[in-house]
Amino acid sequence: RPRVLSGIQPTADSFHLGNYLGAVRQWVALQETHDAFYMVVDLHAITVNPSPAELRRRTRVAAAQLFAAGLDPERSSVFVQSHVREHAELAWVLICQTGMGEAGRMTQFKDKSSKYGEGSAGVGLFTYPILQAADILLYQADQVPVGADQKQHLELSRDLAQRFNNRYGRTFTVPSPYILKEVEKITDLQDPTAKMSKSSSSPQGILDVLEQPGPLRKKVMRAVTDTGTDVVADDENKPGITNLLRILSAITATPIPELEARYAGQGYGTFKKDVAEAVVDAFAPIRERTEKLLGDEAELDRMLAAGAAKARAVAAETMAHVRENIGFLPTP
Ligand code: ATP
Ligand code: MG
Repeated sequence: RPRVLSGIQPTADSFHLGNYLGAVRQWVALQETHDAFYMVVDLHAITVNPSPAELRRRTRVAAAQLFAAGLDPERSSVFVQSHVREHAELAWVLICQTGMGEAGRMTQFKDKSSKYGEGSAGVGLFTYPILQAADILLYQADQVPVGADQKQHLELSRDLAQRFNNRYGRTFTVPSPYILKEVEKITDLQDPTAKMSKSSSSPQGILDVLEQPGPLRKKVMRAVTDTGTDVVADDENKPGITNLLRILSAITATPIPELEARYAGQGYGTFKKDVAEAVVDAFAPIRERTEKLLGDEAELDRMLAAGAAKARAVAAETMAHVRENIGFLPTP
């Protein structure tokens, strides 16, 4: 079985619709056919310096949502990144294979650091993509299911794998991105050209998986749409309607042309109501299961411990090869 690996940051109290459609839903599907490793990437989350209480809470909420969304601890290894020490260890080795210019070209760093003053963004935010390469390469992942925003980071992971293999002998599988075009970039409801994001979307622009039906409906009804009345996909001129069409299409497994035909001549109102109901129906069971899982923290922590044990076995094996190939003396 080919291997998949992916991760999600505990940077908010809930996942959003983009995380769900662009990533987590694929993770659930892929566990049927792949050897699957999925993690809550708390080492990545500390790049923005959350408080310890916030980080702990969000890490458990994130893990609970993954199980609630359908990840099965029998079929997938679901774990917390910091429980496997090899991530940080391999990240250092890969930092030493990366050029300054190469790291400096990462556009996500440019976006995320723009809110800090000149020179004030953290070094962790800068080296984030290299830690991500370590995450992937440790598990010898063949495929990495992610949203479009991760394309460039995946490219860096591939380059680092190839470079290391050339310098030190075959050590890593070169990973491929697994990106579903239709849902690769779910956009902000208030700014339909920007990605929906945990850390940069406004509350009105984001649909949270753990949110109640009332606010979810309100946000969809108030989503920015374009002047005009036709429900047709047109990225250039109707990014708001196009985003909502993609959402309804993905949730209900209905091709976009079929939706366009269904809502022809009906204006935006009916269409938006149906989008809202589809979102509410998709999220409700995940929210309920998440709440239940969070009700028994000890059991949740046991599930994560079991996931970490499976992950550690693979990570340790890769790291042993890395240590030997790069020329570290055997650990006494
Ligand atoms: P942050 O703003 O803190 O970076 P995020 O919303 O980008 O949070 P991540 O935890 O960084 O979420 O990403 C988890 C996964 O969700 C990644 O695979 C990412 O590509 C995917 N993803 C994030 N936002 C979207 C989106 N709007 N559409 C599709 N996929 C997305
Ligand atoms: Mg992100």
